[in-house]
Amino acid sequence: MKKDFTPTLLDFGNLHIYLARHFGFCYGVENAIDIAFRTVDENPGKRIFLLSEMIHNPQVNADLQERGVQFMQDTYGKQLVSFDSITEDDVVIIPAFGTTLAIEEKLNTIGIKTEKYNTTCPFVEKVWNRSEQIAKKNYSIVVHGKPVHEETRATFSHAAANTPTVVVNDMKEAIELGKYINGEKALNEFYIEFKGRYSDGFDTAKDLQRIGVVNQTTMLASDTQAIADHLKQVMIETYQLTENNIAERFADTRDTLCYATNDNQSAVYEMLKTAADLAIVVGGYNSSNTSHLVELCEEKLPTYYINAADKIFSADQIAHYNFHTRQELTTTDFLPDKSPLKILITSGASCPDAIVEDVIERLVEITSATKNIDAMLEKYQTV
Ligand code: SF4
Repeated sequence: MKKDFTPTLLDFGNLHIYLARHFGFCYGVENAIDIAFRTVDENPGKRIFLLSEMIHNPQVNADLQERGVQFMQDTYGKQLVSFDSITEDDVVIIPAFGTTLAIEEKLNTIGIKTEKYNTTCPFVEKVWNRSEQIAKKNYSIVVHGKPVHEETRATFSHAAANTPTVVVNDMKEAIELGKYINGEKALNEFYIEFKGRYSDGFDTAKDLQRIGVVNQTTMLASDTQAIADHLKQVMIETYQLTENNIAERFADTRDTLCYATNDNQSAVYEMLKTAADLAIVVGGYNSSNTSHLVELCEEKLPTYYINAADKIFSADQIAHYNFHTRQELTTTDFLPDKSPLKILITSGASCPDAIVEDVIERLVEITSATKNIDAMLEKYQTV
């Protein structure tokens, strides 16, 4: 059945909020949080570590820290707690993004049972399995992802264990990679340009002749598609192939975006068809999937990326994140003087729904909405 991506109108009289049909928490994040809290309950008195932030959400991570969980690495892989200080009596939780084979091995050597407290999302594992299938057919792998993101580092490590692998961050880099495939660039320059992004022993002379693209599960679907299409086209032109025999050089790699990324992005595309005054996207500032939702919205209308309701100081002022410059800014007069004021709202896969609810309540409050939440909900109540 075709999914319905129409946004839900929350009619507060002088304030109309259009809530994306799919937003917020995904299966992988809920599952990871569940396992993490259960682990805390099941292991009283034990030291509990998380390899890195559980998910990219400050509130969830703060809750875990409050319950005594310590993070071993920050989001960029910087070590906060040394592996040398870990013993086999400790519990180490693997986050939803998964981890590299090297870290897994290190923990196993210490005597930590990584499989017991592993919250790796099945949709991330699906990408690893897909990489393995592609590798078995002797394709090299191009990972479209943020090179420093935990998930991309984990996927790179799993893919590289089976086949030559290289990471591209965006289309610009995919275009440069294509120039090594079609001979436009000298092959040895690859090692400088893609330093730190290719697997050990990567041989540009042979490892770029047959490729498949997989991606970090939270990338922008259209970006991954464009990158795959570009590299496929480079292969077609370089080796004079057609759609019938392109598989000789380019693996069909549909399916590696996770369902939550797809649904949340599709819901935003649909929501953006509504003529509105502004959009608010709620999520952690280091959340990849949230930043992509922001990217889609800001192409169309003024967009404010916030991580909590209290970033909306008043009807005049809002603090919001510019993920391009990685700065939090304060904007004044962000609400146009209109009635009804139309605001689009969505949130990232790592954002608890309660925060979105707080944001809605805050908007109702600062706009002195003519209908309160109970009155707005009447329409949805069944007798
Ligand atoms: S965004 Fe997708 S891959 Fe990531 S945790 Fe959620 S369901 Fe899993």
